[in-house]
Amino acid sequence: MRKADINKPAVTMYPNARRSIAELKTGALKLSKNNKIADKGKLPVVKKGKFKGYVIFTLTLEERATCPRECYHWDDCYGNNMAFAHRIEHGPALEAKLDEEIAELCATYKGVIIRLHVLGDFYSVDYVNRWAWWLNDYDNLAVWGYTGRTRESEIGKIIDITRQRYGERFSVRFSNNLDYIFSANSTERAKPKAGKSFVCPEQTGDVANCANCALCWAATDRQVLFMTH
Ligand code: SF4
Repeated sequence: MRKADINKPAVTMYPNARRSIAELKTGALKLSKNNKIADKGKLPVVKKGKFKGYVIFTLTLEERATCPRECYHWDDCYGNNMAFAHRIEHGPALEAKLDEEIAELCATYKGVIIRLHVLGDFYSVDYVNRWAWWLNDYDNLAVWGYTGRTRESEIGKIIDITRQRYGERFSVRFSNNLDYIFSANSTERAKPKAGKSFVCPEQTGDVANCANCALCWAATDRQVLFMTH
């Protein structure tokens, strides 16, 4: 067994932060309160681009328990520093809950954009297909995020197909895939190149947050680079 697997088995370091669907006091989808994502103290809405006016929600799953072992950040996952973030239990009960919540939110707001997954990843082919069904059912729904699945994996192939089908509405970038344009890579592994990649402008201080940036979904012809967390 590799040292990283002993140090970091396929679970969160914070089991008390797990929440089953039955334990949830509010929804599985949370209005974003993170000032790196949207302006604090206001309804978090996208300020520019195709999804301007869409309300931003987040979904947080359990890191490592839902992730591929080949994730580049298995060991130093930023969830290791997020002791208090509630990790929603994944599986059929989550999917049933999302079914209800997405219907309600899409009927309430002009548009809804969900940041998948603050922690965790797509854990099954069926789960990816669920997102495809929701995107099919609700024209005012979009998602963005990053996956540690490889494009060649079974789950990665379905992510790729869903991306091709729904375009910007399913802006899921492959993490640490230097050969693929719609990816998100670490600056440890790649340097920015004009016309090919850019460093996240929130990290460089050029924009306040994702709501005022939109590049992760709008810059479809460039890789995004993140400075090592
Ligand atoms: S590039 Fe823009 S949208 Fe993407 S994470 Fe950074 S601030 Fe957010």
